[in-house]
Amino acid sequence: MPKSPLTVAYFTMEIGLESRMPTFAGGLGMLAADIMRSAADTGVVAACVTICWQHGYMRQTIHSNGTQRYDPVSWNPPQILRKASEQVTVQCEGRTVHVGAWIYDLQGSSVTIPIIFLDTDLSENAAEDRQITSHLYGGDGAMRLKQEIVLGIGGVKMLRTMGYSDIRTFHMNEGHAAFLTLELLRERNWNNDDVKRSCAFTTHTPVAAGHDVFDYDLAFRIAGDQLPWHIRSIAGKDRLSMTELAIRMSRYTCGVSKVHGEVSRRMFPWATVDTITNGVHHVHWTAPEFQNLYDSYIHGWRQSPQLLAEKCRELPDDQLWKMHQLAKDRLIAHANQFTDVPLDPHRLTIASARRVVSYKRPELLYTNLERLREVCQGKVQIIHAGNAHAQDPFGQGVIQRMIERSKKLRDSVRIVYVPNYNPDLASLLTGGADVWLNTPMRLHEASGTSGMKACVNGVLNFSTLDGWWIEAFAMDPEAGWRIGPLASALPDAEETTHVDAEDLYTQLQYEVIPEFEYENHVRWIRRMKRSIGLIGYFNTHRCVGEYREKAWKH
Ligand SMILES: *Cc1c(COP(=O)(O)O)cnc(C)c1O
Repeated sequence: MPKSPLTVAYFTMEIGLESRMPTFAGGLGMLAADIMRSAADTGVVAACVTICWQHGYMRQTIHSNGTQRYDPVSWNPPQILRKASEQVTVQCEGRTVHVGAWIYDLQGSSVTIPIIFLDTDLSENAAEDRQITSHLYGGDGAMRLKQEIVLGIGGVKMLRTMGYSDIRTFHMNEGHAAFLTLELLRERNWNNDDVKRSCAFTTHTPVAAGHDVFDYDLAFRIAGDQLPWHIRSIAGKDRLSMTELAIRMSRYTCGVSKVHGEVSRRMFPWATVDTITNGVHHVHWTAPEFQNLYDSYIHGWRQSPQLLAEKCRELPDDQLWKMHQLAKDRLIAHANQFTDVPLDPHRLTIASARRVVSYKRPELLYTNLERLREVCQGKVQIIHAGNAHAQDPFGQGVIQRMIERSKKLRDSVRIVYVPNYNPDLASLLTGGADVWLNTPMRLHEASGTSGMKACVNGVLNFSTLDGWWIEAFAMDPEAGWRIGPLASALPDAEETTHVDAEDLYTQLQYEVIPEFEYENHVRWIRRMKRSIGLIGYFNTHRCVGEYREKAWKH
């Protein structure tokens, strides 16, 4: 059946809509979900194409000795999604692979956006091809190529078969989706300029090694003549770079924060890279207590998040603190299930939660345990969460050491590692902590969004200057604290870690803790309002507005 024109078809390898659908791994998928939510709220006629992963994010259990177990989140798509009748085929390694689809209707306050989940687990397919949509980011280069063929080529074919003949912009959320340009090239007689007019691209990876690159031998073996004769002129002369293909075939490319835009321009000096700084869907990440508060005092905040910046000063102090305490009580009740040294609902609570990877420097806070003890003196408690990759010894080690430390420090600093970081736990943590701690290595965090989720609940960020926090901190330095200097003033990595750790302890001791203890929290509450005010800008309604203006306008 023919469908009305789409402003955008948004292609993404992962999407984090709900904790019970493990079709995501981290921030990229969470952002895709928030962008789609805001698009649906602000009336963008869109469809989203992704993959129906059986296994993406895994459920984490932590044993008392600090070892971890990761179990697949078993889910049954038919219980949550509706089956589409359409099927298409792509070619992988010379075989025909059938691709089916499931649909999730994402209902916004203005329109409904179909999220189309592609699936190769069909009886028509060879056993090995049924595995293509099994593990998100699992498998080798050959598997990754097959997955990207299904997403890009299969995705365009699926949209056409479903009746979307008029799609104004094909948006690639990260380079994984770049093969969609190959199908468009075929449709348009291999005319690069024609395809380029229809495509836009967001890059998310500030580190060269994080971009998908394939040997042409392998690419030709897997993709065959789905690769056009002139592929080397658009995807890289020596190796096939998905990012290069995406940039060369897009009329618009952007990074996800100002600093990430700069890093991307340095990485791809021949490209024009703009910036659309990320945001979060402000309603989705607001704790229920705060939703009630904003409904009472900031009328219209749901439709117009910029009102949070204009009106945050009008929130009554006592109400704001009361709601914060309620959200904090909920968080602490959850965390206390995982410790035999219960947390105190009135103590300064620092939360730090994210995927456990080295560039996020999860152990910076523990660089000098003596100093940490001396600074905290029974005034601070810390909640950690974050999953490591099941095969990653670094991540396993970090979590194990965290558990050991929490035992060793129990008399001076209470520390709880809460298992199974997922969107539900992220809501609880960013809703109820006092301080959100983030310590990435500079120029490694493209944007980061968890700190924005904290802001919308009046939680104060305490973070190194990278990604979005550089912009936020410049907008309002009273809304939180920075750790260490800007990137330009840095010595080598080891020295930097030392400088950052020292600054972290000093600021905790002389700024953060005294501010929290100051007379009935009056100064703290003033900062909470400023933190909330930042979401007037760092929200996905604003992002989608910018995408409409710059990336999806035709
Ligand atoms: C928001 C969110 C992320 C992204 O957080 P950053 O630490 O800012 O990269 C990752 N995982 C989950 C579950 C989230 O909710």
